[in-house]
Amino acid sequence: MLEIQGVQQHYDWGGRCYIPMLLDLPEASAQPVAELWFGDHPSGDARIAGDHAFSAWLKDSPVERLGQDSVARFGQRLPYLLKVLDVRQPLSIQVHPSLKQAKQGFASERVQDLPAEQCNYKDDNHKPELMLALSDFWLLHGLKRPEQLALIFDDNPSLKRLESVWQHTDNAGLVQHCFSLNADELAEVLEPIIERHLASYLARELPKSSPYFWLCRAYLRAQQSGQGLEAGLLMVLFLNLVYVAPGQVIFQDAGIPHAYLEGQNIELMANSDNVLRAGLTSKRVDVNELLKVADFSAAEATPIEPIELADGGLDFPVPVDDFQLIAYQLEPGQQLVLEAAESGSVWFLLSGELSLQQQSKLWREGEAYYQLPGEKSLVSAHSCCKLYRAKAKTE
Ligand SMILES: [Zn+2]
Repeated sequence: MLEIQGVQQHYDWGGRCYIPMLLDLPEASAQPVAELWFGDHPSGDARIAGDHAFSAWLKDSPVERLGQDSVARFGQRLPYLLKVLDVRQPLSIQVHPSLKQAKQGFASERVQDLPAEQCNYKDDNHKPELMLALSDFWLLHGLKRPEQLALIFDDNPSLKRLESVWQHTDNAGLVQHCFSLNADELAEVLEPIIERHLASYLARELPKSSPYFWLCRAYLRAQQSGQGLEAGLLMVLFLNLVYVAPGQVIFQDAGIPHAYLEGQNIELMANSDNVLRAGLTSKRVDVNELLKVADFSAAEATPIEPIELADGGLDFPVPVDDFQLIAYQLEPGQQLVLEAAESGSVWFLLSGELSLQQQSKLWREGEAYYQLPGEKSLVSAHSCCKLYRAKAKTE
C-alpha cells in the first residue's frame, strides 16, 4: 500500500473550507478548493512513492502496477478517477460523450489541429460518473417528463412561444431553440420569471426544492460575473431538480445533461475530463456538438440500491466496467482485510483514523492509498471510519 498525494483543483464554484479541513490544512484556502483528485489524469496527476507522478510511475511497470487484465482492457493508465467535490455555486450544465463519440471527437480535433480553447475533447475516453453524496446534495439531471415540462409552461406565460416549439418538435428541438435565442428574446422569456421570484429568493422564502430558487441563484451569479442572460437559465427549469441524501448514490451515463448545484460528494468516473457544456457557463457552448452527444429524452435520477458484500462493504453497481465503488463503515477496534484484486485499487479514508499493516504512520482522514494488483492488506480502526475503495470491475 502506497500513499497517494491528491491534486487540488481551484475552480471558482468551489468552497474554501471543506477540502482544506479534510486535508487538515491549518487555514481556509485563499482560493476556492473545488475538487481533490486521486488519479493519473494529465489535468491532475497525483504523486506516489516518493513524489513520482502517478501516471509515469504506472507506465514504468504497467503490468505489475495496474494488472495484466487492466492493461489489456483499459491501456497503461488507471481506468478510473476518484474525486472529492465541494460545490458552493452551480457548475455549468454538462454532458459527457460515449466512448465511441470521445474516440471520434478527440481524433478529429487532433487532425484539424485546433487551438486548445476550441477543443471539446481533452482525451479519447468516455466519462460515465457515479456520485455519492456526503451532505445534502442538489443537482440537475436529465430532461423532465412531458407532464412536468407542461407544468413549467403552465406556470410561466412568458414561455408560451417555447411551449409551442416544444409541441411542434421535441425536447431536442426545444433545447436547440433555447440556444438560438438572442439577448432580447432571452430577456422577454426570462425576465418576467426572475422578477416574479427574485424578492422571495432574496428574503430566503424559496425552498431549495423549487427550481426558481436555483434559477435566481444562477441568475445572480451570472450578473455578478458580468454575464448576461443565457439559455442555460432556461435549462434550469427544463431539467429534473434532484435531491440526494447523504450516503445515496446517483449514476450519470453518457449523454445525460446534468449540473451539480450544491453540496459535497465523492465522484468516481472513467478516467477522462471530456465535458461538453450546455449553459450556466462563461465558456463556449458548442451547440452542434452538444446536440450530437446529448440525450434529451426524459430521464429520472434514481438512487442506486447498494449490494452488501461478505466483508460488510456496500457495492453500488453501475452499468460500466471502468469502475466500482465500495463503501465501508468501521467501528473502533474493527479490522478489515483489504482483499487482493486483479487490478489496482485506490482507497480513500473520508473520516476516522486507521492503522495499516506494516506501516508505523497512522492513516488519517483525507488520505488515500494505492493497493497494487494481487496485494492483500489489513487495517484496524482507531475510531469510527468511513473508507472507500475504487477499482475497475472484475470481468
Ligand atoms: Zn459530469
